[in-house]
Amino acid sequence: MPEKKSVYQNVIRQFNHAAEVMNLDPDVKEILSKPMNEIIVNFPVKMDDGRIEMFTGYRVQHNNTLGPFKGGLRFHPNVNIDEVRALATWMTWKSAIADIPYGGAKGGIQIDPRKYSQSELERISRRFAFALGSNIGPEYDIPAPDVNTNGQIMAWILDTYQSTFPPQVRNTLLHVVTGKPVEAGGSIGRNKATGQGVCYCVEQWAKDHDFDLKKATFMVQGFGNVGSWAARLIAEKGAKLIAVQDHTGSIYCKDGIDAEKLADYVAEHRGIKGFPGVEEIKNEDFLSTEADIFVPAALENQLTAETTGKLKVKLVAEGANGPTDPDGDRILQEKGIDLIPDVLCNAGGVIVSYFEWLQNKRSEFWDLEEVDSKLYKKIIGGYKRVKEAAEKYKVDSRTAAYIVALSRILVVYKERGIFP
Ligand code: NAD
Repeated sequence: MPEKKSVYQNVIRQFNHAAEVMNLDPDVKEILSKPMNEIIVNFPVKMDDGRIEMFTGYRVQHNNTLGPFKGGLRFHPNVNIDEVRALATWMTWKSAIADIPYGGAKGGIQIDPRKYSQSELERISRRFAFALGSNIGPEYDIPAPDVNTNGQIMAWILDTYQSTFPPQVRNTLLHVVTGKPVEAGGSIGRNKATGQGVCYCVEQWAKDHDFDLKKATFMVQGFGNVGSWAARLIAEKGAKLIAVQDHTGSIYCKDGIDAEKLADYVAEHRGIKGFPGVEEIKNEDFLSTEADIFVPAALENQLTAETTGKLKVKLVAEGANGPTDPDGDRILQEKGIDLIPDVLCNAGGVIVSYFEWLQNKRSEFWDLEEVDSKLYKKIIGGYKRVKEAAEKYKVDSRTAAYIVALSRILVVYKERGIFP
């Protein structure tokens, strides 16, 4: 059995490197190197056939110095405490880079949601929310969708959470989750927000490098929320999508794959396999596709010592969290491939989650133009801060992104001090 890679170890290696480069205060380094709270809940759920099944759910709250804990919930068979710790830590950095008043958290349940009926998934989601109880809250810890979770699941969590309070206050709690369907209190533009943020970053990179997106080709790994929106929006800018991979296989078409049609197909068939008019390629050949831009938008540890050498692209724009491990980073640098790191590139989701949270608190509805223009300002603000830090410290973009986040959090620790 190959040794299973610890995602949290990747975070700690990245963190230690940035801390060393910027000469981070050792006390603050000590504090940030461990999550504040780790919650594990085991809870029973009645299945459609009347049986009871036990589930394990996690919520790791890494840090709330800048504001309430914030981060998604993932339903996946690989969810474990190590992965959730890593994802929670990345959320702390992400909010700090985007300059939004949140800390970092993440959670999930170790299940394969495809094995359960819709009504079972509803009971699992509701029972998880009930088990978490007051460990989440609109001013304390605010979940959102992530891999295999969506607006529907957020609506069930909201409804369950509200039900545990007296009727008089229930409508003041809408902002306990973000990524809700628009009708249930969500924000216009949240669904595409992460992909939109990826697209804004790619456009900015193209501008900085005098690179014509209309002549570009790109490939996307993962065609769920992030991948499919990033693909549609980057294609709208004139770039040609030529290869896609998801959990059902890999496809290629040198003349271009219609991202809009593929998204419709995936919604119906739950995967890209069988999409007409394209060539099916072997999964191991996908990364060797010759293209200008690669958007990993699936899971962690995809670009490693074994795989990164295959890439023939100019830019990796990380839609997923943690798709590149530290060996992958080193190889990207050796090969001269540019990187827009996850904590910056995929921050569109948490940024528009923040807008949703604000709208709920103020009983407002913003239109798409307002959401998109505010998102652009926030994410490009982060992009520029990261670029400046990379130039100032002469480091790669991931290290620079960490330095931006750590500098921001450091100031607050210095100003407020440590109690007692
Ligand atoms: P999703 O469930 O909508 O889609 C996940 C995609 O990954 C699917 O297309 C699936 O087929 C694919 N996938 C799964 N296993 C794979 C494998 N072994 N090989 C290739 N593809 C595989 O999830 P999402 O919300 O799009 O999240 C994708 C990534 O983006 C995750 O890393 C997540 O943490 C990150 N992210 C999501 C958001 C958000 O707003 N949803 C925000 C920031 C970051």
